Amino acid sequence: MKSKIVLLGPPGSGKGTQGEKLSEEMGYVRLSTGDMLREAVRNGAELGMKAKGYMDSGALVPNDLIIDLMKEKISTLEPGTGVIFDGFPRTVEQADALGEQIEIDLALNLDVADCELVERLTKRRSCPECHCVFHLTHNKPRQEGVCDKCGSPLYQRDDDCDETVCNRLEVYRKNTLPLIDYYERKGILVTVEGTGKMDEIFAKVKEAVR
Ligand code: AMP
Repeated sequence: MKSKIVLLGPPGSGKGTQGEKLSEEMGYVRLSTGDMLREAVRNGAELGMKAKGYMDSGALVPNDLIIDLMKEKISTLEPGTGVIFDGFPRTVEQADALGEQIEIDLALNLDVADCELVERLTKRRSCPECHCVFHLTHNKPRQEGVCDKCGSPLYQRDDDCDETVCNRLEVYRKNTLPLIDYYERKGILVTVEGTGKMDEIFAKVKEAVR
């Protein structure tokens, strides 16, 4: 089984959902820089104050802040822990820094057409506590506005509004898309079609991880 996994794919491609499922079913530790940053914003931490403006506009938070954050998290992992990096790296500089810390053995790229991403993101509702995500049409919570898993009130992320979503996709194309070639050259890239039924996608994801 692969042990150090990077999840690649544009915003809305399902990295959070698939990463969470892998973590639940197979025991991986999921490290999501987006979740860590949102938590820092909620807690009024210094990192959150520095990051908020970038996040709200859909821009990337500067590499040095993110790299320091991840180095700190990686240093707390028990040796041999299976890890999934979700939303990190997003630039070649971050990928180089990660490679210096840890040997990645799989880069799993979720491929979803652009036209579907906007619909997924603007209708996404998220749980601030357990990070479960729902969709207003395709994956409704059992009770409107309430997380199925932990019962917390769902919210719409500030950056899931129309204007910011387009910018995030642009930022992805410019900064993060090159990582597909980056990991392909290392011989560890697997691309999975990220459209269709969630369980079918997860079956393909599990196959790639084994
Ligand atoms: P996400 O939840 O992964 O979509 O991330 C939400 C926002 O957090 C992004 O739009 C960026 O502003 C910021 N962010 C998360 N991860 C990174 C990263 N690896 N590098 C730079 N900015 C990040």
